[in-house]
Amino acid sequence: MAPVKAVLESAAPLIPARPTLVSLRAAAADCKACDLWKRGTQTVFGEGARRAAALFIGEQPGNEEDLTGRPFVGPAGRLLDRALEEAGIERSRTYVTNVVKHFKWEPRGKRRIHAKPDALEIMACRPWLEAELAVVRPQVVVCLGATAAQALLGKKFRVTQDRGKVFASELAPRVLATVHPSSILRAPDDETRRVEMQRFIDDLRKVAQAMAAAR
Ligand code: SF4
Repeated sequence: MAPVKAVLESAAPLIPARPTLVSLRAAAADCKACDLWKRGTQTVFGEGARRAAALFIGEQPGNEEDLTGRPFVGPAGRLLDRALEEAGIERSRTYVTNVVKHFKWEPRGKRRIHAKPDALEIMACRPWLEAELAVVRPQVVVCLGATAAQALLGKKFRVTQDRGKVFASELAPRVLATVHPSSILRAPDDETRRVEMQRFIDDLRKVAQAMAAAR
């Protein structure tokens, strides 16, 4: 009888003994701890300053991120860049990553449509995020959207109710959640988009204050 291939349910065994961002990125490139590696083009690991004061966590890479291998470079990433600038946060003091490092998508005609990662995929990928947090040791963690907020702050966390509030956590001295920038892009009209962008910038100003308080 052919040997049964062991199925990894967590990326934990792949974390290097003395992780650095470089060694983590290299190890994550070969991760097959959940089935998402079959669908995505490549692992999209986090990126940014090694000792970033603020670490931003989204849900998963999107179409452009999947193709380039870099996080937050698509339309939502460009919106995040604009909002960070408006809020007075230097990109050089940040690190951006995702709860899940492969793009999960469903075909719709010729397009690849975002599909939400499930609890098992999030759990399988979590060791990469924990390792990034352990290496970067940010003063402020910012969850972008419900998937990141609920993965890190608990299933009962509601971004709509608690966005912009600063919490103490074992993740970092200060943790906040706000919307994912892609939700602003999906606003039904220009006026809603303008209002939501302003609210997002207001939340990021609180991040800027938390970063300043941590200096
Ligand atoms: S999504 Fe995460 S756990 Fe799953 S294969 Fe990709 S890197 Fe590994």
